[in-house]
Amino acid sequence: MILVATVAVAAPLDKTLSYILPETLQTKARVGMRLRVPLGRRSVVGYLLELAPGAGDGLKAVLEILDEAPLFPAELIPFFVRAAEYYRHPLGEVIRAALPAGLSGRGSEVNILRDKVYTPTGIEGKPPGARQLEILAMIRDSGRVSLTELRERFGTPHSPLKRLVELGFLKEGEEERRRDPFLDQPVPAYESVEPTNEQAEALERVGKALTAGGFAPFLLHGITGSGKTEIYLRTIAEVLALGRRALVLVPEIALTPQLVSRFRARFTEVSIAVLHSGLSDGERYDAWRAILRGEVAIVIGARSAVFAPIRELGIIIVDEEHESSYKQGEGFRYHGRDLALLRGQMAGAAVLLGSATPSLTTFHRARQGQTGYLPLTRRALARPLPEVTLVDLTAGRPEGSLSESLASALRENLEREEQSLLLLNRRGFAPFLLCSDCGRTFRCPNCEITLTYHQGRRQLRCHYCDYAETPPEICPQCRGGNIEPEGAGTERLEEELAQLFPAARIARMDRDTTTRKGAHQRLMERMMRRDVDVLVGTQMVAKGHDFPGVTLVGVVGADSTLNFPDFRSAERTFALLAQVAGRAGRGAKPGRVFIQTYAPDHYALVCAAAHDYGRFYEQEIVCREELDYPPFGFLVNLVLSGNDPQRVSRGADALAEGLLRDAGTAEVLGPAPCPLARLRGKSRMQILLKASSRAPLRRLLSRLPDLERKIPAGVRLAVDVDPVDML
Ligand code: ADP
Ligand code: ZN
Repeated sequence: MILVATVAVAAPLDKTLSYILPETLQTKARVGMRLRVPLGRRSVVGYLLELAPGAGDGLKAVLEILDEAPLFPAELIPFFVRAAEYYRHPLGEVIRAALPAGLSGRGSEVNILRDKVYTPTGIEGKPPGARQLEILAMIRDSGRVSLTELRERFGTPHSPLKRLVELGFLKEGEEERRRDPFLDQPVPAYESVEPTNEQAEALERVGKALTAGGFAPFLLHGITGSGKTEIYLRTIAEVLALGRRALVLVPEIALTPQLVSRFRARFTEVSIAVLHSGLSDGERYDAWRAILRGEVAIVIGARSAVFAPIRELGIIIVDEEHESSYKQGEGFRYHGRDLALLRGQMAGAAVLLGSATPSLTTFHRARQGQTGYLPLTRRALARPLPEVTLVDLTAGRPEGSLSESLASALRENLEREEQSLLLLNRRGFAPFLLCSDCGRTFRCPNCEITLTYHQGRRQLRCHYCDYAETPPEICPQCRGGNIEPEGAGTERLEEELAQLFPAARIARMDRDTTTRKGAHQRLMERMMRRDVDVLVGTQMVAKGHDFPGVTLVGVVGADSTLNFPDFRSAERTFALLAQVAGRAGRGAKPGRVFIQTYAPDHYALVCAAAHDYGRFYEQEIVCREELDYPPFGFLVNLVLSGNDPQRVSRGADALAEGLLRDAGTAEVLGPAPCPLARLRGKSRMQILLKASSRAPLRRLLSRLPDLERKIPAGVRLAVDVDPVDML
């Protein structure tokens, strides 16, 4: 019998291809495996989507099968197909993006951690030292304790341990563990709580949907500390009880060890897979295979986990659904939350979108009744929301970065020995260097952007392409010696604080201080231990953790986010401010928040200060409707890029002309240079398509394969459906 294989090749092709499956490969081949197939004169990797008897006339043959076992189940294929159609991306490349990275050169290398372990020998009696007694008590209590755990609790327990072994109270052994920052986290004990009324109502509604089965989307709109995570845990418990599985998406897995350990604490009996960037390729593959075999009940991961091969999916939770990191910015530009909704629909699962500051689109959908609405309006532990003060900088620009009111609040907090958090959403020392004699600034040779000054490394760096140079002492233009850093980033703020408060323990959290493995984790632990008085950082400090000791939050400059050239800048500013303000007063003591701004009357700031999402939404939605922006209009951004600016421009003109001819009710805006008109050495132009429904856009996009022929060689076209970042 001749078997014909339907294959999606990992290449920019907008259709699947058919090949004959040679008899020698027939016993091995299964849907979901990778194959090597001929394409033109080359051979390429493809994914086997279907096998069926057929004629096979004129078809080429599959060359090789690359896997021992399938990488995805057949039931995921329709989801891949829909995702590829929706985002106008080749199916084979969608599948490649969906599968774990590093499949090809897979060794099964694992990060191994060797650790000493101590067990009691059963010999009764009391050791001589007080510390020895304490350590022995802990080991006797738990039966078996590793050196890492002992270090966490006792600092340097080596000599008392040695003595306890010599005295015969303890046995020392060795163990090997996989090194996993999430497994190494201490797991707190789960304390069962009585749900609040609001929580109980939310749980009842989700519970009903789960028992009924089928797709059921919900927005869980709860202010910070209102007990959303508690709802996640309880609904997942119900899902597991129904014999189904759960998927939890988080914006950035590296920033959420606390959330993960709460899941581990609650679900000690089932297997949880955490898909994070610290896994080796081998570990990631192993986790993937375990999920595929049905051995994992809960999968937690960042946006790409939306493709995890989970069967019997009962619920998808999207935590902080408004976060823009759910959108993939390059290649296959999907949105993790939107695909979660699609997958939930196709799998007949509940989808729970959680946020304190929902995206406008999600909230609008809830308003229209397309998504269930579950509000949590009060903090679970009855802690008041912090009092927020907007500090008007137009009244008088402070000399340094801090206004008098924020500086004195900081001083008070230091005197009271309480912790403070300062947000400045810009890393480095200064956003640029300026020659104060002739006004020269320093630009990246590859990008249309000024270079940021980093004082610690004495470097000018591009934050887009990582280009770096040493700043000159003498201005290359006027030969003057007065080159000055202008403006402030987190590095400068840290220095200012050290001068202002010489006795304070100050730390900084941004991309520069957290690149080394475990650095972010260590900073968080220092905060938790209260080894830090003031933590300075970029938006990273606003995310994913709960420092009970923080009673003061200062936002040094709210305006850079607000003045961003993007229709979502108000939405982003509101979300960031609400989120960082929620970091104050999570513990027993009430919190205070100071936001410094040149636009104290802007509704995004006023509403954030009043903790009033509803009022923000009412104002913002009016602007969106007037301008036909989402959720009223739909956008597709077409970005053309290439080395030669003339070719890019010609390609953009030709494409826009073709699109205009077929536009129908859709608008074709541009072509125009992208806000970042040069990036990594490439010239960039964009064409924005806009329409009040999806149908005309879909029709227009279906013309792209034809129109693409008008684009000159050397120019790339990227299609961004529902763009989030239009730089
Ligand atoms: P969110 O995820 O909305 O920020 P959490 O679920 O983390 O909120 O809850 C905030 C705090 O309140 C946590 O310490 C949590 O254990 C506690 N909590 C949540 N629900 C309740 C409840 N019903 N009763 C008592 N404490 C609760
Ligand atoms: Zn650059």
